[in-house]
Amino acid sequence: MPITCSSCHKIIPLQDAKFCPYCGKALTISTSAEKQIVVYLVSLLVPPFGFWYVWKYLRQGDRKSKIIGIVAAVLTIIAIATSIWLWEKSLTVLNQKINSSLGSFSVY
Ligand SMILES: [Zn+2]
Repeated sequence: MPITCSSCHKIIPLQDAKFCPYCGKALTISTSAEKQIVVYLVSLLVPPFGFWYVWKYLRQGDRKSKIIGIVAAVLTIIAIATSIWLWEKSLTVLNQKINSSLGSFSVY
């Protein structure tokens, strides 16, 4: 999977390049506290985008980025599991409502 420069959008031939060979932009991604909060919030609130961060951070060589990637992965999985659980729960409630209204009809 080739990486592209976020500044000049050229494909960077080296997988582990720290700087873009064309424009010199730093390619390492931020591990600042502010950035971590954004990553974790995105993972929790919009899980599909969380996977994008997970992929991006896990590809980084350093330990700190990998930890952020793993935490984001856990949060994304929790968020997805919660939304599936809520969805199933609301479907069950809906089913019961339909069944009970159908039941009252059949009694008639
Ligand atoms: Zn560039």
